[in-house]
Amino acid sequence: MKLLEGKNAIITGASRGIGKGIAEVFAKHGANVAFTYNSSVEAANELEKELQELGIKAKGYKSNAANFEEAQELVKNVAEDFGKIDILVNNAGITKDNLLMRMSEEDFDRVIEVNLKSVFNMTKAVQRTMLKQRSGSIINMSSVVGVKGNAGQANYAASKAGMIGFSKSMALELGSRNIRTNVIAPGFIETEMTGKLDEKVVAGWRDAIPLKRGGTPEDIANACVFLGSDLSAYITGQVLQVDGGMLT
Ligand code: NAP
Repeated sequence: MKLLEGKNAIITGASRGIGKGIAEVFAKHGANVAFTYNSSVEAANELEKELQELGIKAKGYKSNAANFEEAQELVKNVAEDFGKIDILVNNAGITKDNLLMRMSEEDFDRVIEVNLKSVFNMTKAVQRTMLKQRSGSIINMSSVVGVKGNAGQANYAASKAGMIGFSKSMALELGSRNIRTNVIAPGFIETEMTGKLDEKVVAGWRDAIPLKRGGTPEDIANACVFLGSDLSAYITGQVLQVDGGMLT
């Protein structure tokens, strides 16, 4: 069953990893996909072709989610190219890990800008369209680290916890217009972001997860399909942990 037939989605940061997985699964469920990337032009062009071959409308846009004006411009272009905007997935994110003692101001600011301010930028940009439509589903990609904290990731944890507060506020502000805002908190998902980690450490993590494996981008994408689709029509302001039981 195709759960997103006829819906238009914007996914930020989809040239690789979780975002790419969401774009692919959304397309398989019949959604038209507008996606962004920061610098991976070649990967984005390939994904655009791959998605189009699934018979839906797809387009990649180079757009820095951390930049307010670029987000405005992006949404203007997507609205022109696609028409309505039903789903926004704020997925773009980075890490710049270090213990606080060694964390530079620049690395703190950059992570907050890309991970948290981007959510403000994109939500502001789609707001008018979704208000006019009187419908919309916004999905923000947080992390279990935003729920629990993590040594060596104070900047990242702060950005991801901030996304939860922002999303709950949006659920309250926009609910009367049938715009839903939910958060996904992935646990350990095996992508380039986590590929940088030491294999021994990773093996230990896998073992500590009740489901005994790291997650895949598809695991996260399937949760996004649910939150983007009408199956979740009465769900807003929630944080859905997709973590194999990690935080249980
Ligand atoms: P990833 O493999 O590093 O991919 C990050 C994506 O974001 C890339 O497509 C990248 O584009 C894009 N991006 C980075 N900065 C951007 C910017 N300023 N503007 C627009 N796009 C930007 O990361 P991932 O593992 O898929 O993670 C995706 C999201 O899930 C992030 O928000 C991350 O914090 C969250 N998450 C991941 C895990 C995990 O275990 N992997 C766990 C919890 C939460 P380019 O290719 O052009 O650089």
